[in-house]
Amino acid sequence: SLAACSSEREGGDSTATSGSTEAAKGFPANSLIGVALPAKTSENWVLAGDLFTNGLKEAGFQADVQYAGSSTTVADQQAQISAMVTKGAKVIVIGATDAAQLSTQVEAAKQAGATVIAYDRLIKNTQGVDYYVAYDNFKVGELQGQALLDGMAKKKPSGPYTVELFSGSSDDNNSAVFFDGAMSVLKPKIDSGDVVVGSGQTDIKQTATDGWKAENAQRRMDSLLTSTYNGDKTLDGVLSPNDTLARAIITSVKGAGKPLPIVTGQDSEVESVKSIVAGEQYSTINKDTRNLVKQTIQMVKDLQAGKTPEVNDTKSYNNGVKVVPSFLLPPMIVTKDNVVEAYANDPNLAPLTK
Ligand code: BGC
Repeated sequence: SLAACSSEREGGDSTATSGSTEAAKGFPANSLIGVALPAKTSENWVLAGDLFTNGLKEAGFQADVQYAGSSTTVADQQAQISAMVTKGAKVIVIGATDAAQLSTQVEAAKQAGATVIAYDRLIKNTQGVDYYVAYDNFKVGELQGQALLDGMAKKKPSGPYTVELFSGSSDDNNSAVFFDGAMSVLKPKIDSGDVVVGSGQTDIKQTATDGWKAENAQRRMDSLLTSTYNGDKTLDGVLSPNDTLARAIITSVKGAGKPLPIVTGQDSEVESVKSIVAGEQYSTINKDTRNLVKQTIQMVKDLQAGKTPEVNDTKSYNNGVKVVPSFLLPPMIVTKDNVVEAYANDPNLAPLTK
């Protein structure tokens, strides 16, 4: 049976509301702002670090931007947040490495009078998180599911289509939201028999990729190819939650000497944009990191000025103990068909599409 994965998202909402519970008081313009990011599991995190460092400085703040290491990620991030609290940071922006392991640190930040903003990934099971800023994660999943169907239909006009499903790291709240979004599109097709999951692995626990690590996705794809596709069975498509994993999946398929399936992605990573232009990876998602960081810094500026930051969603992100007021940005699907327009305003990616 299909997974009824328990994401914390509960339906959309686009009504603009103010989400703050306390009256904002403001703080000095040159205050310290902490930014605690996860390990550099994808290019977006590398970009975000530089953009926060420069953007916060330009806005007149002192910036303390930290990354969790690649092995002891949880402990690193907990220590980094505690240090930011000790140093008196007025706002702490967190891209959680493990959504469920930060309540102690987040509550200490609140006690010390800091505002906590969850960046890109929700922080769970704590009252201490004030705001959430992200691209609409459920929409990302829907776009991925639809791209998988569209891509397969372009190659083969009628089904049944055989696919495999991959999801992200289970400690990241986004992983289930992406997967639920994709499944909202794919499940009706699976139920009708038009789409068949070759291995039968449809539960999020079976599809998860620990740590969002490429080697884990590659290993799982290698074993799926051996267990399920060593005969004549054709693999038409693979749902991949991001670009790093998409490329690992493609590497695995190539290594096995099999024809490439339709593979989805996310993040607009340089190598994946090149792969899309070359006709290998089918799709990615444009979630321009510049806009997400800008929106977050706008929140910091509002808090500094004693204003209530703007949010546009007060329904979707229940973290287990509260609905976190959110500002959600719209993600965009990118395939070979729209790659030129999609990155026209991105100085790093535009040259790759020419
Ligand atoms: C982000 C994705 C990214 C993944 C792995 C997620 O939380 O939303 O953009 O691909 O983490 O780094």
